Amino acid sequence: MAQTEIPHFDVVIVGAGLSGIGAAFHLQKHSPDRTYTILEGRAAMGGTWDLFRYPGIRSDSDMYTLGYVFKPWKEAKAIADGPSILRYVRETASENGIDRHIRYGHMVKRADWDTETAAWTVEAEHDGATVKLTCNFLFMCSGYYSYKSGYRPEFAGEADFKGVIVHPQAWPEDLDYSGKKVVVIGSGATAVTLVPEMAKTAAHVTMLQRSPTYVVSRPAEDGVANWLRAKLPPMLAYQMTRWKNVLLGMVFFNMARKRPEKTKERILAMVREKLGPDYDVETHFTPRYNPWDQRLCLVPDDDLFDAISSGAASVVTDHIDQFTPTGVRLKSGQEIEADVVVTATGLNLEVLGGTQFAVDGKPVVFSETLAYKGMMYSDVPNLASSFGYTNASWTLKADLTCGYVCRLLNHMTETGMRQATPVRRPGDEGDEAWLDFSSGYVQRSVHLFPKQGNKAPWKQHQNYAKDLIALKFGKVDDGVMRFTNPLSLGKPAVQPRASAAA
Ligand SMILES: Cc1cc2nc3c(=O)[nH]c(=O)nc-3n(C[C@H](O)[C@H](O)[C@H](O)COP(=O)(O)OP(=O)(O)OC[C@H]3O[C@@H](n4cnc5c(N)ncnc54)[C@H](O)[C@@H]3O)c2cc1C
Repeated sequence: MAQTEIPHFDVVIVGAGLSGIGAAFHLQKHSPDRTYTILEGRAAMGGTWDLFRYPGIRSDSDMYTLGYVFKPWKEAKAIADGPSILRYVRETASENGIDRHIRYGHMVKRADWDTETAAWTVEAEHDGATVKLTCNFLFMCSGYYSYKSGYRPEFAGEADFKGVIVHPQAWPEDLDYSGKKVVVIGSGATAVTLVPEMAKTAAHVTMLQRSPTYVVSRPAEDGVANWLRAKLPPMLAYQMTRWKNVLLGMVFFNMARKRPEKTKERILAMVREKLGPDYDVETHFTPRYNPWDQRLCLVPDDDLFDAISSGAASVVTDHIDQFTPTGVRLKSGQEIEADVVVTATGLNLEVLGGTQFAVDGKPVVFSETLAYKGMMYSDVPNLASSFGYTNASWTLKADLTCGYVCRLLNHMTETGMRQATPVRRPGDEGDEAWLDFSSGYVQRSVHLFPKQGNKAPWKQHQNYAKDLIALKFGKVDDGVMRFTNPLSLGKPAVQPRASAAA
């Protein structure tokens, strides 16, 4: 059926994952007069934590920093399983009435900014038809990878393989691997999660990697956090643990950057201690890069090392030559038998939910823009996106971004300006990559992402303390953000206002 009326909102949030639900909370609390809706492409909220269903799915950073600033994480485990994180997101949405604002099955495809009306027209695919909405501010909380499919290289001979090949992003609900020989291809966070979990019931699990990753073990439970929670009010205990973990993370990251050799030695010494003197740590756990040139892999309570030590799992470092009917043959000539092969080969990164943007009819090429404070884009008005840290928990930055967006919106109301656009000043240049990770999944797509400059506010710090100062306390009207298009000059609101609830 053709759409008759185009609903209008002050803010449209795209995505009902951890970031989108958090954004709605901040908006309701700090900019409460705004109407908003959340457009979610899938049929459920939770994003990553609803999509990924592979065995053992869990966070690889602690929930005291992956949790929202406003909602204490109260479970005993700091490294939490996927279903607990999903529950936490859902609880946030229902406790705050955010769930009533979500429009499911709305996959956003286009967004066109019109300066005259100071509004975005957003087009989404819904039930096979295109629906339109308008809004004055667009907040992309669409994550950073494609939901269509994960990254999956083709291997020679796959068609001959008699077993099952699965990707962690599309885990078959009924896959029975108990008593089976499993090969997990990959060495990232997903592989190190899957291997010990599958090893509990599989005949054997082989982690097959081309090259090693730094793996660090931490207790799944944070003793200090649990002690504080027993003694103090939940919010105070949470905030103290959050700051402890933020600071420890920053100290460790800075040490890794300043003294890479020493950090490397310490990580490898820990691995040697876990796996014993006879294990070939050099081949299987010693990367060719420095710590934090790629994301470190965290394992809780030594689970990966225990699985290897018990013989239930093993690591092979080699290249695949081809699949055979009964497994995989490696470049070295070795063959590994397999009934199930898991391609933990990664994600396909995607810029802003794969949406096409245009400003006054001119398509936005994000790779030609500079990112402002890591969340808005040069010459693109009234658009923000939520993108977390690479060296710390995602939500630390997402929360700061939401806080800043509310301040920006409130400033626009106070000054009667309808348009906020980051504009480069003379000399504001830069062509640094959005992410400075050497990982394959980053290198495959980073050329499509916005660039960063070499100085504030175009530089991404990947540093919570610096961002806290810049985003929470820094001036909104900083000379780079241009406030234009006053209410008095423009036409009134674009369309008759819809109700606040979606
Ligand atoms: C397996 C896995 C484990 C992770 N573990 C951690 C961790 O421990 N710590 C950490 O900091 N980070 C981790 N991450 C990164 C993680 O994605 C973030 O922490 C966080 O979940 C991101 O939340 P988000 O809401 O921004 O994005 P997502 O969770 O990706 O949610 C985005 C939502 O937007 C929707 N969407 C996307 N495009 C559109 C569109 N065009 N139209 C409509 N809807 C759209 C999606 O359907 C989805 O619901 C992990 C990622 C993965 C894949």
